[in-house]
Amino acid sequence: MAYDRNNVFARILRGEIPCKKVYEDEHVLAFHDINPQTPTHILAIPKGEYASADDFSQKASDAEIAAMMRALGRIAREQGVAETGYRILANTGPAAHQEVAHFHIHLFGGRDLGGMLPRR
Ligand code: AMP
Repeated sequence: MAYDRNNVFARILRGEIPCKKVYEDEHVLAFHDINPQTPTHILAIPKGEYASADDFSQKASDAEIAAMMRALGRIAREQGVAETGYRILANTGPAAHQEVAHFHIHLFGGRDLGGMLPRR
């Protein structure tokens, strides 16, 4: 998937669209999802131009990858869901219905999240 610099998260990173920021460091920005699916629903994105988890896993530096995982753990603790439990999820490509073509990890929590996937 080629990177489109006009995707909504690229625009948030450039400050062209507002977000409700919860965390930022050199490599990562995290903010509330605009359409929360759970009481806590945060999106963590790399500041680099990566279209998907596949792209990020191939091209990101070790520092960027480590920063993402460190940030997610810290955000979960700060949001108060580390004790009760939470889920992190990255929709990747068409089969997973990825809507925004800038790699992002959802962090869901604040209620019982049920089973991982609906049975078909
Ligand atoms: P995905 O289907 O994994 O690509 O999820 C994209 C997510 O981005 C959805 O949960 C949307 O609600 C969320 N989203 C889209 N636009 C914005 C925005 N401007 N600010 C925050 N979240 C957004």
